[in-house]
Amino acid sequence: MSQTMTEKPSGFCFELSEDHKMVQKMVRDFASEHLAPRAAHYDRTCEFPWENVKKMAELGLMGVTVPEELGGAGMDSLAYSIVIEEISRACAATGVITAVQNSLGEYPLMAFGTEEQKKKYLPLMARGEKIAAYALTEPGSGSDSASMQTRCELQGDHWVLNGQKNWITNSTGAEIFIVYATKDPDLKHKGICCFIVEKGWEGFTVGKHEETLGVRASGTCGLTFENCKVPRENLLGVEGEGFKIAMQALDTGRVGIAAQAVGIAQAALDNALRYSKERQQFKKAISEFQLVQEMLVQMAVEIDAARLMLYRAALKRDSGEKFTKEASMAKLYCSEVAMRAALNAVQVHGGYGYSKEYPVERLLRDAKVTQIYEGTSEIQKLVIARELLRD
Ligand SMILES: Cc1cc2nc3c(=O)[nH]c(=O)nc-3n(C[C@H](O)[C@H](O)[C@H](O)COP(=O)(O)OP(=O)(O)OC[C@H]3O[C@@H](n4cnc5c(N)ncnc54)[C@H](O)[C@@H]3O)c2cc1C
Repeated sequence: MSQTMTEKPSGFCFELSEDHKMVQKMVRDFASEHLAPRAAHYDRTCEFPWENVKKMAELGLMGVTVPEELGGAGMDSLAYSIVIEEISRACAATGVITAVQNSLGEYPLMAFGTEEQKKKYLPLMARGEKIAAYALTEPGSGSDSASMQTRCELQGDHWVLNGQKNWITNSTGAEIFIVYATKDPDLKHKGICCFIVEKGWEGFTVGKHEETLGVRASGTCGLTFENCKVPRENLLGVEGEGFKIAMQALDTGRVGIAAQAVGIAQAALDNALRYSKERQQFKKAISEFQLVQEMLVQMAVEIDAARLMLYRAALKRDSGEKFTKEASMAKLYCSEVAMRAALNAVQVHGGYGYSKEYPVERLLRDAKVTQIYEGTSEIQKLVIARELLRD
């Protein structure tokens, strides 16, 4: 997959362009054939889904918005949102792996990297030859990420990193880590610097894999830095402006998580529709009961609204304008819709929805984390309020 998106969809009586429809069909067909059949296996085993990553890389899905000259597919954020939605509809863990690669991994390099850094790292990432991770959260600092304690100190030609990171997606597979550390915690956000750290560098250890409720194959681990020497040229962006990079990356990341949530919600509706037509009670398909229809309708209406919010955030990003508010609104709403849709899908399945025999229990577990990572729902509300009051 490699093309430049020229046609734009017209306004909000929403019709995707032929290019975007083509991407949607291609990824949907691929995901239902190759990703969906293995999703339960990866959920059970927590194995990093290398087979999925390899196939997605062949299709250009590991570098959707990276320019073609740097090994990417050169497409826009709307195409990226469609890609993440369709992958997550089949396998939410693979969805977040792809989202982190594209947004939190590649975006900071594209936006803040030097020419050398871009040429060295982006083609490897965009071609899926190296997986990326984004290390902001620490055991003591989550929502308040500016209070991080991981230290960086310039010593001659090297920065020296010391500290710990927590909950870092992709860690079991990653070879390139975008790491945030502070020159002095008292400086809060003004002291934060951003680094490109490679797996295997002395003093850098990836910890044990975390057993999580959902997205279990996404390789989440803690990281430890003990006098880890990072070459000076691996500082990303300007010294002391790491927090700006982290927050801008999260704007793009939140569009990806909103897309993941829409994909999970759509999978919940797909399953609920299928099951409600098959399951008979009182000598009728349960889909004929209006109380069941009400659940299906609520899911369908909310998913439609969520997808439009997602597309709007993506289009705003593509326009080059600030899209912080739209990204947070989409992430907040789409994740709520994913949770409600997954709960309704379990309800439509009755007792079978509560068993591992059907995928809806996994969808419920996967949906929950979309309200937590890349900023909890409460943090999205704070961001939206700040942006509203600024206008
Ligand atoms: C599976 C998984 C993968 C992750 N992947 C990554 C990753 O790749 N990279 C990375 O850096 N991080 C990652 N994270 C971390 C994630 O971003 C944090 O868990 C999240 O930001 C919340 O931080 P916390 O867990 O420390 O919760 P806390 O910040 O301790 O929050 C606890 C509760 O308090 C609420 N709260 C906190 N502050 C406020 C406030 N001011 N007002 C109102 N409510 C508030 C929160 O909303 C939440 O409900 C991941 C987490 C998970 C679970």
